[in-house]
Amino acid sequence: MPLSSNCNQRSMEQNDYEKADTLCANILKNEGDRLIDQKEWLNKYKGLYSKFNIQPGKLPAIANCNFKGIRYENIATFHKIYKNTLDDFTIVDTWKQVDAIAHFFEELNLSMLVECLKQDYYNNLDYTDFIYQLAVAFTEMEFRGNLKTRTISCTCKQCCRQQYFFIGETDGSYFDLTFVLEKEKVIDIYECEESKCMVPEEINLEKRIWIDPNKTPF
Ligand SMILES: [Zn+2]
Repeated sequence: MPLSSNCNQRSMEQNDYEKADTLCANILKNEGDRLIDQKEWLNKYKGLYSKFNIQPGKLPAIANCNFKGIRYENIATFHKIYKNTLDDFTIVDTWKQVDAIAHFFEELNLSMLVECLKQDYYNNLDYTDFIYQLAVAFTEMEFRGNLKTRTISCTCKQCCRQQYFFIGETDGSYFDLTFVLEKEKVIDIYECEESKCMVPEEINLEKRIWIDPNKTPF
């Protein structure tokens, strides 16, 4: 299969791999920088990614990180993180917003939720509080052994809004969130306080994790 992306580049030497591997090691050491502004991070390292990216037609992109029997781990790891971030932004740009948000809840991917959520208030909390409480709730979900969740979505028969249960893959802990849509945009995500919304039978009510700790029933 022809690897067209490499056609117009001079072939790389061992020295190129070594230098790039050191550069990638530094980028990985400061990985937190990515989260400050992910789009800027993507732009900044676009050239580096392209140089070590192999895109075989429609197959997934792979890292060009092996040379003369040596595998350059930092290049491989950098490539993986860059590609995942790029894929996440493709989701933001091409999926319906509500589906993208649900997807990032499934992945417990807070940094991408930050990219999707643009309202001043959610769940009666101001934006910063809401994101903070999400971080706490995601940590609790992970602490209980769930690195991903799956979705059950249904229209609540009481309030006619779309309800999402994000259920932990391991122990069944869950978030119960109601999405409020206006013109196909999510304008609020809230937890039904009056417990009027429907709960599917398979849900274990004792395993609910609340985003807003003040709403936890005693
Ligand atoms: Zn409802």
